[in-house]
Amino acid sequence: MSPRTITNAGFNLDATVGDMWVDGSWIWPLAWRDVYPVLIQDNIQIVHKDMADRVLWKHGNELHDHSSAIVWQSIRTREPDVDWVCIVWFAQCIPKHAFLMWLIMRRKLLTQDKILQWDFSRRKNMNMMCCLLCYADYDSHHHLFFECNFSSQVWNLVRGKVGMDNVEPKWSVIVDRLCSGSSSKSASSYVSKLVVTATAYAIWQERNARLFKNHARPPDAIGANVLQTVRYKLMGVKFKAMEKCEGFFKLGIFMTLTATTVGGD
Ligand SMILES: [Zn+2]
Repeated sequence: MSPRTITNAGFNLDATVGDMWVDGSWIWPLAWRDVYPVLIQDNIQIVHKDMADRVLWKHGNELHDHSSAIVWQSIRTREPDVDWVCIVWFAQCIPKHAFLMWLIMRRKLLTQDKILQWDFSRRKNMNMMCCLLCYADYDSHHHLFFECNFSSQVWNLVRGKVGMDNVEPKWSVIVDRLCSGSSSKSASSYVSKLVVTATAYAIWQERNARLFKNHARPPDAIGANVLQTVRYKLMGVKFKAMEKCEGFFKLGIFMTLTATTVGGD
């Protein structure tokens, strides 16, 4: 409502909603109802007639001070947490890795197996398609993470650094292993998640570098790059949330184990 509208109707500019409520009815001009339909709704509450106006947000049956946070809580749809939430979004994760991890868990990457499901007219030249990492099969989520001969070599290079020596290069097996310890705040659980997400990220990067830039690196360079990324991350980790002694001990082992294998790539 413009100041002119308010003064033309004979009201002061500092009048409150409470001033409009006199003897049990609204005293604003009837013509306002057509221009401002909100005035017809019965959701204007006079809490205290003498108080200054406040805009409140009704969330459920409660009134809250208005904020974007409370509006978002009201309008968003809620679903129960999936059982893998803790291995994707965890404290002190690497955000770009977490986002890719989320896409992988939802099977949302545009892999070749999806393209091959398109109708025939759109896949004219796609019979030549193959995984650019191993050239043996077309790529898919299962193949890339990490059943592909190339990816599995990378996994085999990094898994021992986080005590996952016996975990085969299969996404479902790795996810089960991470989920079984995902609620733990231990350093080893944290580092395992960092290594798996960094490895998945590096494989997807390598696949895209080969596809779009024709730039290829061998598995040991990818493995070294993963370990280097994790080491850099760990150097900046705040230990408060973790059990300190165990954290320093395990991280010390990780740093020692990876220090000799991390080359300059
Ligand atoms: Zn492959």
